[in-house]
Amino acid sequence: MARRKKIYEGKAKILYEGPEPGTIVQYFKDDATAFNAEKRDVIDGKGVLNNRLSEFFMTGLNNVGIPTHFIRRLNMREQLVRSCEIIPLEVVVRNVAAGSLAKRLGLEEGSALPRPIVEYYYKDDKLGDPLVTEEHIAAFGWASQQDMDDILSLALRVNDFLSGVMIAVGIRLVDFKIEIGRVFDGDFQRLIVADEISPDSCRLWDAETGQKLDKDVFRRDLGDLADAYTEVARRLGVMPKNAAPITKPTLIN
Ligand code: UDP
Repeated sequence: MARRKKIYEGKAKILYEGPEPGTIVQYFKDDATAFNAEKRDVIDGKGVLNNRLSEFFMTGLNNVGIPTHFIRRLNMREQLVRSCEIIPLEVVVRNVAAGSLAKRLGLEEGSALPRPIVEYYYKDDKLGDPLVTEEHIAAFGWASQQDMDDILSLALRVNDFLSGVMIAVGIRLVDFKIEIGRVFDGDFQRLIVADEISPDSCRLWDAETGQKLDKDVFRRDLGDLADAYTEVARRLGVMPKNAAPITKPTLIN
């Protein structure tokens, strides 16, 4: 069997060279990290859930005309995606005050924002992904003005889509992070949604009880992360009904 070429290994995923030019295989690991990898653990089944959930969200976005890198799921932990040049920004959209915004501006977690707020963080783990403004982005050439217009529009469209999908299953989309990639079609470049969309990169609260169903369960030691993600997948109808429980190994005598 031939060994695949590993392109990159991050905190939660590994990227391998894909079977055709311009494609990448994205492998979802079970590793969970928070606070810039100061807190880490292995959560059995998280990779399988995030692979399925990211497939679900990205397919939905593709279907409503919001372009993403997703091509198809290959197996339990892998999906085939279009290779792209990642813009070095974490694009965060917020509907409700939480996390770093609540802390920075002294807002009560859970207070609704007057309108969705889009923020940009410079992707650099050594610096702890600092918040940046469009001035920094333009001055350092991370993205052009046209890119920024397109990124804002993509981010808000993704927010509308995800908010609708989530509220339909009783979940409030508090905030989320996306990454944007460039692809080249001949003389033209296009921006597409890349990386992943999963409870690792969103804040999801039960609309009735406020119960957290996202990575804050891990960050703040609130319970079993796989159970929370399984609940999101169950509500969305993502996991096949009769699938074997993925968090427990099967013992065969
Ligand atoms: N987020 C992420 N990766 C990061 C930082 C943030 O996916 O490196 C997501 C996070 O899960 C949340 C949103 O972006 O849904 C906003 O995060 P925030 O700025 O509040 O930071 P945090 O409280 O996670 O440090």
